Amino acid sequence: MSQTASTAVGETLEPADLIDFDSLLSREELALRTTVRTFVDEAIRPNIAGWFEAAHFPLEIVPEMGRLGLLGMHLHGYGCAGRTAVEYGIAGAELEAGDSGLRTFVSVQGSLAMSAIAKWGSEEQKSRWLPGMAKGELIGCFGLTEPTAGSDPSAMKTFARRDGEDWVLNGTKRWIGLANVADVAVIWAQTDGGIRGFVVPTGSSGFSAVPIEPKLSMRASIQCEIELTDVRLPAGALLPDAHGLRGPFSCLNEARYGIIWGAMGAARDSFEAALAYSKDRLQFDKPLAGYQLTQQKLVDMALEINKGFLLALHLGRLKDAGALQNHQISVGKLNNVREAIAIAREARTILGGNGITLEYSPLRHANNLESVRTYEGTDEVHTLILGQRLTGLPAFR
Ligand SMILES: Cc1cc2nc3c(=O)[nH]c(=O)nc-3n(C[C@H](O)[C@H](O)[C@H](O)COP(=O)(O)OP(=O)(O)OC[C@H]3O[C@@H](n4cnc5c(N)ncnc54)[C@H](O)[C@@H]3O)c2cc1C
Repeated sequence: MSQTASTAVGETLEPADLIDFDSLLSREELALRTTVRTFVDEAIRPNIAGWFEAAHFPLEIVPEMGRLGLLGMHLHGYGCAGRTAVEYGIAGAELEAGDSGLRTFVSVQGSLAMSAIAKWGSEEQKSRWLPGMAKGELIGCFGLTEPTAGSDPSAMKTFARRDGEDWVLNGTKRWIGLANVADVAVIWAQTDGGIRGFVVPTGSSGFSAVPIEPKLSMRASIQCEIELTDVRLPAGALLPDAHGLRGPFSCLNEARYGIIWGAMGAARDSFEAALAYSKDRLQFDKPLAGYQLTQQKLVDMALEINKGFLLALHLGRLKDAGALQNHQISVGKLNNVREAIAIAREARTILGGNGITLEYSPLRHANNLESVRTYEGTDEVHTLILGQRLTGLPAFR
């Protein structure tokens, strides 16, 4: 049973909640959760299997996300909702309970593209792009990864050369979310003065983006290879305040934070699907839920979901207090995505053969979470960050 629009704010109908997690949330936070959950129930759930099968990203629901204040929701001014980090996380969990691809869109738009412009952009860049992006009228993408520079973005080859007042960009970016439907791309490139960021209208001559297909994960979302061939930009396209990898990494940290919550949304939805199925499905004359082996699976899943949400909330409260440290984001991202995949796969076993169809969510979530464990720092990268934190010894090279 999932909470619906008719559920009163504060009323706990969370099947996985064993610890009264909701008592830790404010009325505003619970109300936002209900709003986003209702949107997911109405706009995403009825359609997601079809979108996933057809590899369709539903551009048509983007304006509604804008109206709900979900785009750049943690940013202030320029039409953004100015929500807290915890509220952003709660929304991410609800969206990812629908599908990781939709939460990923909100993350690319808000945490990556809009954050880059808001943190590092000029006043002119902010006023030109952010209001339309917050409304969902303009779509943004974030180009950091390249075919030969993934975990180590410092190896990027895309180069921006100065030509008089202009900049001329050449290079290839890979895995860039929504690039073929985006209006604007934040592109990170080497320059004679180190790595810098550029705000590139995708209609610029020499810019092309082609979707990477076919994929077994994140099918209701688009990732592209971008080719930049002599893309000429005016001086005002440079993000004036971003110097070096600190620029993109500050945005990645925003997105990584959102994943900590989002992954638990996918886990919770997988658990709920398995719980409901196990109560209905009879084998050996009894519901599957009545067998000890099934109960152990459900209990183990619920424990990790409760712990994962507690961790997300703790890190969110730290973020809202301005006290969240980068290695703490790695704790959340590594743990919650790893546990979410395990939960989605375990939930699938309870569904038996039916679990491999698109009628049920767990295997779709598990497939999506393979991407989530890879982007925004792989499991290995976050392990190395935490290893360095514990030992003081960097082991990246
Ligand atoms: C669905 C999806 C969406 C994405 N969206 C975007 C986007 O919008 N913008 C963007 O810029 N990028 C995006 N990415 C790219 C993503 O950030 C990269 O895939 C990620 O950084 C890993 O890089 P890679 O795929 O090149 O793998 P590699 O870096 O080649 O890694 C391959 C394997 O080697 C491991 N490895 C690497 N270095 C080490 C080491 N030192 N020690 C041990 N193991 C190591 C990795 O952990 C991994 O297991 C997206 C990716 C996906 C799948």
